[in-house]
Amino acid sequence: MSVVSEAAASEELFRRAQRIIPGGVNSPVRAFRAVGGTPRFMVSGDGAYLTDADGRRYVDLVCSWGPMILGHAHPAVVEALRAAVSRGTSYGTPSPGEVELAEEIVSRVGPIEQVRLVNSGTEATMSALRLARGVTGRSKIIKFAGCYHGHVDALLAAAGSGVATLGLPDTPGVTAATAADTIVLPYNDLTAVDEAFAEHPGQIAAVITEAAAANMGVVPPLPGFNAGLRRLCDVHGALLILDEVMTGFRIGPAGWWGVEGAIEGWAPDLFTFGKVMGGGLPAAAFGGRAEVMTHLAPAGPVYQAGTLSGNPLAVAAGLATLRACTSEVYATVDARAGDVASIISTALTEQGVLHLPSSAGSLFSFFFTDAPSVVDYAGARTQSSARYAAFFHAMLDAGVYLPPSAYEAWFVSAAHDDEVVERIAAAAPVAARAAAGVPEPVPATSAGGKRP
Ligand SMILES: *Cc1c(COP(=O)(O)O)cnc(C)c1O
Repeated sequence: MSVVSEAAASEELFRRAQRIIPGGVNSPVRAFRAVGGTPRFMVSGDGAYLTDADGRRYVDLVCSWGPMILGHAHPAVVEALRAAVSRGTSYGTPSPGEVELAEEIVSRVGPIEQVRLVNSGTEATMSALRLARGVTGRSKIIKFAGCYHGHVDALLAAAGSGVATLGLPDTPGVTAATAADTIVLPYNDLTAVDEAFAEHPGQIAAVITEAAAANMGVVPPLPGFNAGLRRLCDVHGALLILDEVMTGFRIGPAGWWGVEGAIEGWAPDLFTFGKVMGGGLPAAAFGGRAEVMTHLAPAGPVYQAGTLSGNPLAVAAGLATLRACTSEVYATVDARAGDVASIISTALTEQGVLHLPSSAGSLFSFFFTDAPSVVDYAGARTQSSARYAAFFHAMLDAGVYLPPSAYEAWFVSAAHDDEVVERIAAAAPVAARAAAGVPEPVPATSAGGKRP
Protein backbone atom coordinates (compact mmCIF):
# COMPACT_ATOMS: atom_id res chain seq x y z
CA MET A 1 0.00 0.00 0.00
CA SER A 2 1.20 3.49 -0.76
CA VAL A 3 1.45 5.88 2.16
CA VAL A 4 -1.45 8.05 1.03
CA SER A 5 -4.13 6.19 -0.88
CA GLU A 6 -5.52 7.83 -4.01
CA ALA A 7 -8.96 6.96 -2.66
CA ALA A 8 -8.43 8.10 0.94
CA ALA A 9 -11.62 10.15 1.11
CA SER A 10 -13.72 7.36 -0.42
CA GLU A 11 -12.16 4.86 1.97
CA GLU A 12 -13.04 7.01 4.96
CA LEU A 13 -16.61 7.54 3.70
CA PHE A 14 -16.97 3.79 3.08
CA ARG A 15 -15.83 3.06 6.65
CA ARG A 16 -18.46 5.44 8.00
CA ALA A 17 -21.10 4.13 5.61
CA GLN A 18 -20.53 0.50 6.56
CA ARG A 19 -21.27 1.28 10.19
CA ILE A 20 -24.73 2.69 9.53
CA ILE A 21 -25.82 1.43 6.07
CA PRO A 22 -25.88 -2.34 5.40
CA GLY A 23 -22.77 -3.08 3.36
CA GLY A 24 -22.17 0.66 3.14
CA VAL A 25 -24.43 1.16 0.10
CA ASN A 26 -28.07 1.66 -0.79
CA SER A 27 -27.99 -0.70 -3.78
CA PRO A 28 -25.71 -3.78 -3.71
CA VAL A 29 -23.71 -3.55 -6.96
CA ARG A 30 -22.33 -0.16 -5.87
CA ALA A 31 -20.29 -1.88 -3.14
CA PHE A 32 -17.72 -3.28 -5.65
CA ARG A 33 -18.12 -6.80 -4.21
CA ALA A 34 -17.92 -8.32 -7.71
CA VAL A 35 -14.63 -6.57 -8.50
CA GLY A 36 -13.14 -5.97 -5.05
CA GLY A 37 -11.73 -2.73 -3.68
CA THR A 38 -13.35 0.40 -2.32
CA PRO A 39 -16.32 1.98 -4.09
CA ARG A 40 -15.69 5.55 -5.18
CA PHE A 41 -17.99 8.09 -3.53
CA MET A 42 -18.94 10.56 -6.24
CA VAL A 43 -19.54 14.19 -5.40
CA SER A 44 -20.44 15.60 -8.80
CA GLY A 45 -21.13 14.82 -12.42
CA ASP A 46 -20.77 16.99 -15.51
CA GLY A 47 -21.30 15.80 -19.04
CA ALA A 48 -19.47 12.50 -19.53
CA TYR A 49 -17.50 12.81 -16.28
CA LEU A 50 -17.87 11.98 -12.60
CA THR A 51 -15.70 13.46 -9.84
CA ASP A 52 -15.06 11.53 -6.64
CA ALA A 53 -14.54 12.66 -3.05
CA ASP A 54 -10.76 12.62 -3.59
CA GLY A 55 -11.08 15.01 -6.51
CA ARG A 56 -10.35 12.40 -9.20
CA ARG A 57 -12.25 12.71 -12.48
CA TYR A 58 -13.53 9.68 -14.35
CA VAL A 59 -15.05 9.11 -17.77
CA ASP A 60 -18.41 7.64 -16.79
CA LEU A 61 -19.46 4.49 -18.67
CA VAL A 62 -22.31 3.69 -16.29
CA CYS A 63 -24.38 6.88 -16.64
CA SER A 64 -26.33 6.07 -13.47
CA TRP A 65 -27.23 2.69 -15.05
CA GLY A 66 -28.87 4.38 -17.99
CA PRO A 67 -30.78 7.53 -17.05
CA MET A 68 -28.06 10.05 -17.93
CA ILE A 69 -28.44 9.74 -21.70
CA LEU A 70 -27.75 13.47 -22.12
CA GLY A 71 -24.78 13.42 -19.74
CA HIS A 72 -24.64 14.71 -16.18
CA ALA A 73 -26.08 18.11 -15.26
CA HIS A 74 -27.42 18.79 -18.74
CA PRO A 75 -28.39 22.49 -18.85
CA ALA A 76 -31.97 21.85 -20.03
CA VAL A 77 -32.59 19.36 -17.22
CA VAL A 78 -30.94 21.55 -14.57
CA GLU A 79 -33.00 24.53 -15.72
CA ALA A 80 -36.27 22.55 -15.70
CA LEU A 81 -35.52 21.37 -12.18
CA ARG A 82 -34.63 24.85 -10.97
CA ALA A 83 -37.92 26.17 -12.32
CA ALA A 84 -39.88 23.25 -10.84
CA VAL A 85 -38.34 23.36 -7.37
CA SER A 86 -39.20 27.03 -6.96
CA ARG A 87 -42.87 26.03 -7.31
CA GLY A 88 -42.68 23.51 -4.45
CA THR A 89 -41.62 19.87 -4.32
CA SER A 90 -44.84 17.85 -3.98
CA TYR A 91 -48.55 18.65 -3.95
CA GLY A 92 -50.34 15.36 -3.38
CA THR A 93 -52.71 16.35 -6.16
CA PRO A 94 -52.65 15.87 -9.92
CA SER A 95 -50.41 18.43 -11.66
CA PRO A 96 -49.92 19.50 -15.29
CA GLY A 97 -46.44 17.99 -15.72
CA GLU A 98 -47.81 14.47 -15.20
CA VAL A 99 -50.16 14.94 -18.13
CA GLU A 100 -47.34 16.24 -20.32
CA LEU A 101 -45.02 13.37 -19.45
CA ALA A 102 -47.77 10.81 -20.06
CA GLU A 103 -48.55 12.47 -23.41
CA GLU A 104 -44.86 12.38 -24.33
CA ILE A 105 -44.68 8.64 -23.63
CA VAL A 106 -47.93 7.85 -25.43
CA SER A 107 -46.86 9.87 -28.47
CA ARG A 108 -43.51 8.04 -28.70
CA VAL A 109 -44.71 4.48 -28.28
CA GLY A 110 -47.59 3.71 -30.63
CA PRO A 111 -49.30 0.80 -28.84
CA ILE A 112 -49.54 2.70 -25.55
CA GLU A 113 -52.87 4.42 -24.98
CA GLN A 114 -52.58 5.00 -21.24
CA VAL A 115 -49.76 5.15 -18.70
CA ARG A 116 -49.54 5.23 -14.93
CA LEU A 117 -46.53 7.01 -13.41
CA VAL A 118 -44.68 5.40 -10.49
CA ASN A 119 -41.37 6.01 -8.69
CA SER A 120 -39.07 3.17 -9.76
CA GLY A 121 -38.70 0.42 -12.32
CA THR A 122 -39.41 -2.07 -9.53
CA GLU A 123 -42.79 -0.47 -8.89
CA ALA A 124 -43.54 -0.48 -12.60
CA THR A 125 -42.95 -4.22 -13.05
CA MET A 126 -44.62 -5.08 -9.73
CA SER A 127 -47.71 -3.10 -10.70
CA ALA A 128 -47.75 -4.47 -14.25
CA LEU A 129 -47.75 -8.01 -12.83
CA ARG A 130 -50.59 -7.22 -10.45
CA LEU A 131 -52.56 -5.70 -13.30
CA ALA A 132 -51.93 -8.74 -15.53
CA ARG A 133 -53.10 -11.05 -12.76
CA GLY A 134 -56.11 -8.85 -12.05
CA VAL A 135 -57.12 -8.73 -15.70
CA THR A 136 -56.68 -12.44 -16.42
CA GLY A 137 -57.71 -13.84 -13.04
CA ARG A 138 -54.67 -16.13 -13.24
CA SER A 139 -51.74 -16.54 -10.82
CA LYS A 140 -48.64 -17.80 -12.57
CA ILE A 141 -46.06 -15.80 -14.46
CA ILE A 142 -43.16 -16.72 -16.69
CA LYS A 143 -39.84 -14.91 -16.43
CA PHE A 144 -36.44 -15.70 -17.90
CA ALA A 145 -33.28 -16.61 -16.01
CA GLY A 146 -30.83 -13.72 -16.02
CA CYS A 147 -33.52 -11.12 -16.72
CA TYR A 148 -33.79 -8.52 -13.98
CA HIS A 149 -37.05 -6.70 -13.34
CA GLY A 150 -36.26 -4.94 -10.08
CA HIS A 151 -36.48 -6.41 -6.60
CA VAL A 152 -40.10 -7.53 -6.83
CA ASP A 153 -40.56 -10.66 -4.67
CA ALA A 154 -42.08 -12.77 -7.45
CA LEU A 155 -39.41 -11.68 -9.93
CA LEU A 156 -36.39 -12.43 -7.75
CA ALA A 157 -37.26 -16.10 -8.12
CA ALA A 158 -34.67 -16.72 -10.80
CA ALA A 159 -33.30 -20.00 -9.51
CA GLY A 160 -33.18 -23.14 -11.55
CA SER A 161 -32.34 -23.59 -15.15
CA GLY A 162 -33.54 -26.22 -17.55
CA VAL A 163 -37.00 -26.50 -18.92
CA ALA A 164 -40.06 -25.32 -17.03
CA THR A 165 -38.44 -25.33 -13.61
CA LEU A 166 -40.70 -24.00 -10.93
CA GLY A 167 -38.93 -21.05 -9.36
CA LEU A 168 -37.24 -21.46 -6.02
CA PRO A 169 -36.74 -18.36 -3.90
CA ASP A 170 -33.46 -16.73 -4.90
CA THR A 171 -33.21 -14.72 -1.72
CA PRO A 172 -34.26 -15.21 1.90
CA GLY A 173 -37.43 -13.24 2.55
CA VAL A 174 -39.26 -14.38 -0.57
CA THR A 175 -41.68 -17.10 0.44
CA ALA A 176 -41.89 -20.44 -1.31
CA ALA A 177 -45.55 -19.67 -2.01
CA THR A 178 -44.61 -16.51 -3.91
CA ALA A 179 -41.85 -18.23 -5.84
CA ALA A 180 -44.12 -21.15 -6.70
CA ASP A 181 -46.15 -18.89 -8.98
CA THR A 182 -43.04 -17.89 -10.92
CA ILE A 183 -41.88 -20.14 -13.73
CA VAL A 184 -38.26 -19.42 -14.66
CA LEU A 185 -37.18 -20.42 -18.15
CA PRO A 186 -33.99 -20.05 -20.21
CA TYR A 187 -33.88 -16.81 -22.18
CA ASN A 188 -34.32 -17.13 -25.94
CA ASP A 189 -35.95 -20.56 -25.60
CA LEU A 190 -39.43 -20.52 -27.16
CA THR A 191 -39.77 -24.30 -26.89
CA ALA A 192 -39.49 -24.01 -23.11
CA VAL A 193 -42.22 -21.34 -23.11
CA ASP A 194 -44.44 -23.52 -25.28
CA GLU A 195 -43.97 -26.44 -22.90
CA ALA A 196 -44.65 -24.31 -19.81
CA PHE A 197 -47.96 -23.14 -21.28
CA ALA A 198 -48.86 -26.77 -22.05
CA GLU A 199 -48.00 -27.83 -18.49
CA HIS A 200 -50.03 -25.09 -16.82
CA PRO A 201 -53.13 -24.66 -19.00
CA GLY A 202 -55.20 -21.59 -18.16
CA GLN A 203 -52.94 -20.65 -15.24
CA ILE A 204 -50.35 -18.28 -16.70
CA ALA A 205 -51.28 -14.61 -16.34
CA ALA A 206 -48.26 -13.12 -18.08
CA VAL A 207 -44.87 -13.54 -19.62
CA ILE A 208 -42.44 -10.80 -18.60
CA THR A 209 -39.21 -10.28 -20.50
CA GLU A 210 -36.61 -7.60 -20.87
CA ALA A 211 -37.13 -6.09 -24.32
CA ALA A 212 -33.46 -6.92 -24.89
CA ALA A 213 -31.78 -8.58 -21.93
CA ALA A 214 -29.06 -6.36 -20.49
CA ASN A 215 -28.81 -7.35 -16.83
CA MET A 216 -26.69 -10.49 -17.37
CA GLY A 217 -24.38 -8.58 -19.64
CA VAL A 218 -26.08 -7.68 -22.91
CA VAL A 219 -27.89 -10.62 -24.49
CA PRO A 220 -30.15 -9.49 -27.34
CA PRO A 221 -33.25 -11.51 -28.15
CA LEU A 222 -32.68 -13.91 -31.02
CA PRO A 223 -34.62 -12.99 -34.17
CA GLY A 224 -38.24 -14.02 -33.65
CA PHE A 225 -37.99 -14.57 -29.89
CA ASN A 226 -40.05 -11.57 -28.78
CA ALA A 227 -42.50 -12.05 -31.67
CA GLY A 228 -42.76 -15.73 -30.67
CA LEU A 229 -43.62 -14.75 -27.10
CA ARG A 230 -46.36 -12.52 -28.48
CA ARG A 231 -47.77 -15.41 -30.51
CA LEU A 232 -47.69 -17.87 -27.59
CA CYS A 233 -49.32 -15.36 -25.24
CA ASP A 234 -52.09 -14.84 -27.79
CA VAL A 235 -52.66 -18.57 -28.18
CA HIS A 236 -52.88 -19.10 -24.40
CA GLY A 237 -54.66 -15.90 -23.31
CA ALA A 238 -51.73 -14.52 -21.31
CA LEU A 239 -50.47 -10.95 -21.34
CA LEU A 240 -47.00 -10.06 -22.64
CA ILE A 241 -45.13 -7.54 -20.49
CA LEU A 242 -42.15 -5.96 -22.25
CA ASP A 243 -39.77 -4.54 -19.64
CA GLU A 244 -38.18 -1.48 -21.24
CA VAL A 245 -36.97 0.06 -17.98
CA MET A 246 -33.41 -0.01 -19.32
CA THR A 247 -33.98 0.05 -23.10
CA GLY A 248 -36.90 2.49 -23.14
CA PHE A 249 -36.04 5.89 -24.65
CA ARG A 250 -32.37 4.84 -24.70
CA ILE A 251 -32.18 2.43 -27.66
CA GLY A 252 -34.21 4.98 -29.63
CA PRO A 253 -37.23 7.28 -29.33
CA ALA A 254 -39.58 4.30 -28.88
CA GLY A 255 -37.14 1.99 -27.09
CA TRP A 256 -36.35 -1.55 -28.22
CA TRP A 257 -39.94 -2.02 -29.35
CA GLY A 258 -39.39 0.84 -31.81
CA VAL A 259 -36.56 -1.03 -33.53
CA GLU A 260 -38.14 -4.49 -33.40
CA GLY A 261 -41.87 -4.75 -32.66
CA ALA A 262 -42.78 -1.65 -34.64
CA ILE A 263 -41.06 -3.11 -37.69
CA GLU A 264 -42.22 -6.70 -37.28
CA GLY A 265 -45.76 -5.64 -36.46
CA TRP A 266 -46.28 -6.92 -32.94
CA ALA A 267 -46.84 -5.17 -29.60
CA PRO A 268 -46.84 -6.27 -25.97
CA ASP A 269 -49.92 -5.78 -23.80
CA LEU A 270 -47.95 -3.81 -21.23
CA PHE A 271 -44.68 -1.87 -21.28
CA THR A 272 -42.62 -0.86 -18.27
CA PHE A 273 -40.27 2.14 -18.25
CA GLY A 274 -37.89 3.86 -15.86
CA LYS A 275 -34.30 5.13 -15.97
CA VAL A 276 -34.14 7.60 -18.96
CA MET A 277 -37.75 8.77 -18.50
CA GLY A 278 -36.90 10.11 -15.03
CA GLY A 279 -33.88 12.09 -16.18
CA GLY A 280 -31.99 10.99 -13.04
CA LEU A 281 -34.88 11.51 -10.65
CA PRO A 282 -37.20 8.77 -9.38
CA ALA A 283 -39.83 8.39 -12.11
CA ALA A 284 -41.01 5.27 -13.90
CA ALA A 285 -44.16 4.13 -15.66
CA PHE A 286 -46.16 1.25 -17.02
CA GLY A 287 -48.61 1.49 -19.86
CA GLY A 288 -50.54 -0.25 -22.58
CA ARG A 289 -53.94 -0.42 -24.26
CA ALA A 290 -56.73 1.50 -22.52
CA GLU A 291 -58.78 -1.71 -22.36
CA VAL A 292 -56.10 -3.21 -20.06
CA MET A 293 -55.03 -0.06 -18.20
CA THR A 294 -58.59 0.94 -17.21
CA HIS A 295 -58.64 -2.04 -14.86
CA LEU A 296 -56.47 0.12 -12.57
CA ALA A 297 -58.00 2.05 -9.65
CA PRO A 298 -59.79 4.39 -9.61
CA ALA A 299 -61.07 3.51 -13.11
CA GLY A 300 -61.14 -0.19 -12.24
CA PRO A 301 -60.66 -2.62 -9.36
CA VAL A 302 -56.88 -3.31 -9.44
CA TYR A 303 -55.35 -1.16 -6.71
CA GLN A 304 -52.15 0.81 -7.28
CA ALA A 305 -51.05 4.10 -5.69
CA GLY A 306 -48.13 6.29 -4.61
CA THR A 307 -47.68 9.36 -2.39
CA LEU A 308 -44.94 10.74 -4.64
CA SER A 309 -46.07 9.22 -7.96
CA GLY A 310 -45.90 11.85 -10.69
CA ASN A 311 -43.77 14.04 -8.42
CA PRO A 312 -43.38 17.49 -10.02
CA LEU A 313 -39.56 17.49 -9.86
CA ALA A 314 -39.22 13.97 -11.26
CA VAL A 315 -41.70 14.73 -14.01
CA ALA A 316 -39.88 17.97 -14.90
CA ALA A 317 -36.53 16.19 -15.16
CA GLY A 318 -38.05 13.38 -17.21
CA LEU A 319 -39.86 15.69 -19.60
CA ALA A 320 -36.79 17.87 -20.13
CA THR A 321 -34.73 14.76 -20.81
CA LEU A 322 -37.16 13.18 -23.26
CA ARG A 323 -37.69 16.48 -25.11
CA ALA A 324 -33.91 16.88 -25.49
CA CYS A 325 -33.56 13.31 -26.82
CA THR A 326 -33.55 14.27 -30.47
CA SER A 327 -32.61 12.01 -33.34
CA GLU A 328 -29.13 13.62 -33.20
CA VAL A 329 -28.81 12.53 -29.57
CA TYR A 330 -29.66 8.94 -30.49
CA ALA A 331 -27.28 9.04 -33.46
CA THR A 332 -24.46 10.34 -31.23
CA VAL A 333 -25.10 7.75 -28.53
CA ASP A 334 -25.15 4.96 -31.14
CA ALA A 335 -21.92 6.19 -32.73
CA ARG A 336 -20.10 6.59 -29.40
CA ALA A 337 -21.22 3.17 -28.22
CA GLY A 338 -19.81 1.70 -31.42
CA ASP A 339 -16.52 3.61 -31.01
CA VAL A 340 -16.03 2.54 -27.41
CA ALA A 341 -16.98 -1.09 -28.06
CA SER A 342 -14.53 -1.39 -30.93
CA ILE A 343 -11.68 0.27 -29.00
CA ILE A 344 -12.15 -2.13 -26.09
CA SER A 345 -12.50 -5.17 -28.30
CA THR A 346 -9.38 -4.26 -30.31
CA ALA A 347 -7.32 -3.77 -27.14
CA LEU A 348 -8.47 -7.11 -25.74
CA THR A 349 -7.74 -8.89 -29.01
CA GLU A 350 -4.25 -7.37 -29.22
CA GLN A 351 -3.49 -8.74 -25.75
CA GLY A 352 -4.92 -12.14 -26.61
CA VAL A 353 -7.80 -11.84 -24.12
CA LEU A 354 -10.63 -14.14 -25.18
CA HIS A 355 -13.85 -12.19 -25.21
CA LEU A 356 -17.20 -11.93 -26.90
CA PRO A 357 -18.49 -8.42 -27.60
CA SER A 358 -22.26 -8.20 -27.32
CA SER A 359 -24.69 -5.40 -28.04
CA ALA A 360 -28.33 -4.40 -28.35
CA GLY A 361 -28.65 -0.98 -29.93
CA SER A 362 -26.39 1.37 -27.96
CA LEU A 363 -26.18 -1.03 -25.00
CA PHE A 364 -23.06 -3.19 -25.03
CA SER A 365 -20.86 -5.38 -22.87
CA PHE A 366 -18.09 -7.96 -23.18
CA PHE A 367 -18.12 -11.56 -22.00
CA PHE A 368 -14.65 -12.70 -21.01
CA THR A 369 -15.30 -16.18 -22.31
CA ASP A 370 -14.23 -18.57 -25.06
CA ALA A 371 -17.87 -19.33 -25.85
CA PRO A 372 -18.66 -18.55 -29.51
CA SER A 373 -22.01 -17.03 -28.56
CA VAL A 374 -24.05 -16.21 -25.48
CA VAL A 375 -27.83 -16.45 -25.79
CA ASP A 376 -28.88 -17.06 -22.19
CA TYR A 377 -27.84 -16.89 -18.54
CA ALA A 378 -26.02 -20.23 -18.61
CA GLY A 379 -23.90 -18.86 -21.46
CA ALA A 380 -23.27 -15.57 -19.66
CA ARG A 381 -21.98 -17.50 -16.68
CA THR A 382 -19.16 -19.09 -18.66
CA GLN A 383 -17.30 -15.78 -18.37
CA SER A 384 -14.35 -15.04 -16.09
CA SER A 385 -15.32 -12.47 -13.48
CA ALA A 386 -11.68 -12.40 -12.31
CA ARG A 387 -10.49 -11.22 -15.71
CA TYR A 388 -13.16 -8.58 -15.74
CA ALA A 389 -12.16 -7.42 -12.24
CA ALA A 390 -8.54 -6.93 -13.35
CA PHE A 391 -9.70 -5.03 -16.42
CA PHE A 392 -12.11 -2.92 -14.35
CA HIS A 393 -9.48 -1.83 -11.83
CA ALA A 394 -6.89 -0.93 -14.45
CA MET A 395 -9.50 1.23 -16.20
CA LEU A 396 -10.51 2.80 -12.88
CA ASP A 397 -6.86 3.64 -12.13
CA ALA A 398 -6.66 5.26 -15.56
CA GLY A 399 -9.76 7.37 -14.86
CA VAL A 400 -12.47 5.37 -16.64
CA TYR A 401 -15.44 4.24 -14.56
CA LEU A 402 -16.89 0.94 -15.82
CA PRO A 403 -19.80 -1.04 -14.35
CA PRO A 404 -18.41 -2.73 -11.21
CA SER A 405 -19.65 -6.16 -12.35
CA ALA A 406 -19.15 -8.33 -15.41
CA TYR A 407 -22.93 -8.86 -15.54
CA GLU A 408 -23.84 -5.28 -16.41
CA ALA A 409 -24.29 -3.30 -19.59
CA TRP A 410 -22.04 -0.32 -20.40
CA PHE A 411 -23.66 3.03 -21.10
CA VAL A 412 -22.61 6.15 -23.00
CA SER A 413 -24.29 9.54 -23.29
CA ALA A 414 -24.59 12.24 -25.92
CA ALA A 415 -21.90 14.12 -23.95
CA HIS A 416 -19.31 11.43 -24.69
CA ASP A 417 -17.19 13.33 -27.20
CA ASP A 418 -13.88 12.76 -29.03
CA GLU A 419 -11.84 13.62 -25.94
CA VAL A 420 -13.71 10.98 -23.97
CA VAL A 421 -13.09 8.39 -26.66
CA GLU A 422 -9.37 9.28 -26.69
CA ARG A 423 -9.14 8.81 -22.92
CA ILE A 424 -10.74 5.39 -23.21
CA ALA A 425 -8.41 4.50 -26.08
CA ALA A 426 -5.39 5.50 -23.97
CA ALA A 427 -6.53 3.40 -21.01
CA ALA A 428 -7.70 0.27 -22.81
CA PRO A 429 -4.35 -1.36 -23.77
CA VAL A 430 -3.05 -1.24 -20.18
CA ALA A 431 -6.31 -2.67 -18.87
CA ALA A 432 -6.29 -5.39 -21.51
CA ARG A 433 -2.77 -6.37 -20.37
CA ALA A 434 -4.05 -6.55 -16.79
CA ALA A 435 -6.86 -8.86 -17.91
CA ALA A 436 -4.39 -10.99 -19.86
CA GLY A 437 -2.41 -11.48 -16.65
CA VAL A 438 -5.33 -13.39 -15.07
CA PRO A 439 -5.66 -17.13 -15.91
CA GLU A 440 -8.03 -18.26 -18.67
CA PRO A 441 -11.78 -18.17 -18.04
CA VAL A 442 -13.27 -20.98 -16.05
CA PRO A 443 -17.01 -21.53 -15.86
CA ALA A 444 -18.38 -19.30 -13.14
CA THR A 445 -19.62 -21.14 -10.07
CA SER A 446 -20.76 -18.28 -7.88
CA ALA A 447 -24.22 -16.87 -8.32
CA GLY A 448 -23.72 -14.12 -10.82
CA GLY A 449 -26.42 -12.03 -12.33
CA LYS A 450 -27.91 -8.82 -11.21
CA ARG A 451 -28.10 -7.46 -7.71
CA PRO A 452 -27.81 -3.74 -8.27
C1 LIG B 1 -33.17 -1.18 -13.60
C2 LIG B 1 -34.20 -2.15 -14.06
C3 LIG B 1 -35.37 -2.39 -13.33
C4 LIG B 1 -35.58 -1.85 -11.94
O1 LIG B 1 -35.65 -0.46 -11.89
P1 LIG B 1 -35.38 0.29 -10.49
O2 LIG B 1 -35.69 1.71 -10.80
O3 LIG B 1 -33.97 0.02 -10.13
O4 LIG B 1 -36.33 -0.31 -9.50
C5 LIG B 1 -36.34 -3.19 -13.88
N1 LIG B 1 -36.17 -3.75 -15.08
C6 LIG B 1 -35.06 -3.56 -15.81
C7 LIG B 1 -34.95 -4.19 -17.15
C8 LIG B 1 -34.03 -2.77 -15.32
O5 LIG B 1 -32.91 -2.63 -16.04
